[in-house]
Amino acid sequence: SESEGMACSTNSEKRVKFVVVGGGIAGVTCAEQLASQFTSDSVVLLTAAPLVKTVTNYKRVAKILEDFDVEEQPSTVLEGKYPNLKVIQSAVKTLQAEEHTLHTEDERSFHYEKLCLCSGAKPKLLNRNNPHVLGIRDTDSAQEFQKRLSTARRIVVVGNGGIALELVYEVEGCEVIWAVKDEAIGNTFFDAGAAQFLIPSLALDKPERAMPCKRARYTTEPVADGAAAGMSEATVETGSALGPDWHEGISLRGAEKGSHNVTVEYQCGIKQICTQQEILQSPPGGPQSSDAGDVFFGGTWPVYVQLTNGKTYGCDFIVSATGVVPNTEPFLHGNNFELGADGGLLVDEHMHTTVLDVFAAGDVCSAGWEPSPLWQQMRLWTQARQMGWYAGRCIAAEVLEEPIELDFCFELFTHITKFFNYKVVLLGKFNAQGLGQDHELLLRCTKGHEYIKVVLSNGRMMGAVLIGQTELEETFENLILNQMDLSAYGEHLLDPNIDIEDYFD
Ligand code: FAD
Repeated sequence: SESEGMACSTNSEKRVKFVVVGGGIAGVTCAEQLASQFTSDSVVLLTAAPLVKTVTNYKRVAKILEDFDVEEQPSTVLEGKYPNLKVIQSAVKTLQAEEHTLHTEDERSFHYEKLCLCSGAKPKLLNRNNPHVLGIRDTDSAQEFQKRLSTARRIVVVGNGGIALELVYEVEGCEVIWAVKDEAIGNTFFDAGAAQFLIPSLALDKPERAMPCKRARYTTEPVADGAAAGMSEATVETGSALGPDWHEGISLRGAEKGSHNVTVEYQCGIKQICTQQEILQSPPGGPQSSDAGDVFFGGTWPVYVQLTNGKTYGCDFIVSATGVVPNTEPFLHGNNFELGADGGLLVDEHMHTTVLDVFAAGDVCSAGWEPSPLWQQMRLWTQARQMGWYAGRCIAAEVLEEPIELDFCFELFTHITKFFNYKVVLLGKFNAQGLGQDHELLLRCTKGHEYIKVVLSNGRMMGAVLIGQTELEETFENLILNQMDLSAYGEHLLDPNIDIEDYFD
């Protein structure tokens, strides 16, 4: 039990064959893979958060495209499934890779044979010390956001990735000023055409959600007096990242009536965050001379945001959704990890870092292998699951001295999600990433219904964006994977009168 571990922790070191760090999707999947393959060896999952994430309702949509839900569960559920798997809630403080030992915040030490680091990432915050700036990463930060939103009249959202997109759409009863650095919304996921297709949804009322909350939420285990404990302050520092449908089941409503009220400020970022005092004291030419004076003088606000386009907005708080930084910090000191350009632990095609016997998977790692022409790393759920699972198999292969090839799932980028209440499927080089001028686009769009974009290069399909119920994902995944020459079909490929499925089956 945990208390036994504590009792002998100070100078004794627990020896385990496999240690996995991180109770997010990558870590849990990796630990499960190892525990099921090596039933007579022990696996320890070390995690800073009180709950672990598990994949549920897994569905294979096509050969590679997959969809699933995620549940937060108490670690006992996982331990019940795998008798040789032990989950220990304790944050890792340092790694001595040469000695193969990990030390935790609560002074325990673990000696491993093979280690897999799956510590995820944390939001890049505009300003870490400003109480008016929030990031959203885990259940607790989402709850904090919800709490503050409930009394808010205006918020500023900065960022143009998936989280910003979801947030802006989900928030109701509160004015949202959305600052995006690009010319269009959702630039990380699609092009200006798709953005144009989605934008009208922001002017409509949000449909009532018919579905009940999919995500089960558990409180942590009962405290000593037997009462069910919520998350205590001491345990919340680093939860796992939320994933699809994180906002389901929590109401994202501000202090006002009404549905969406979004103003998009394009091609700008935040120049400065200031208090009312600072605004009043700023010299001529400062924020007061902004061309959004009406906004500025419209009452007093807890905080003011100066955008790089010259406008100033007062607001209740700011949400910073400008991407993530891999959580590598505890592991770097004294070890020779090579990092990727995005700051993740660089891994080779066997998910091996540059340090002996240390693997990494999920948001914390940077894929360092020569990628397939149709795949790119993006810090998403699916890739966390795929990498965690594959890392487990790679660790096993190394232990058993067996060869292993890069898994088929890394042949093609696939992602399925929902934006603005539309189903969104992204395949391959969906934004013609890395193709330069050497590509053409085919489009089909029915306002309010569907948006289909196909990226072709030398007559072969390299990627696609499918928004709405297009039912084309399986056929297109096939066409991308088999790289068939489609030149002969030309624009008929997207002719709505041709049943393309029959064509290619
Ligand atoms: P995480 O889930 O972050 O897990 C990291 C784990 O490591 C945690 O359990 C943490 O407690 C633990 N840990 C950290 N440091 C330590 C330490 N020092 N010692 C011990 N344990 C430690 N992706 C999608 O595909 N679709 C979406 O719709 C989507 N929406 C998102 C919405 C939000 C608000 C956020 C924040 C992310 C979203 N993502 C989405 C991204 C997705 O959640 C992540 O890519 C994915 O969860 C990464 O999984 P992971 O296991 O690598 O890391």
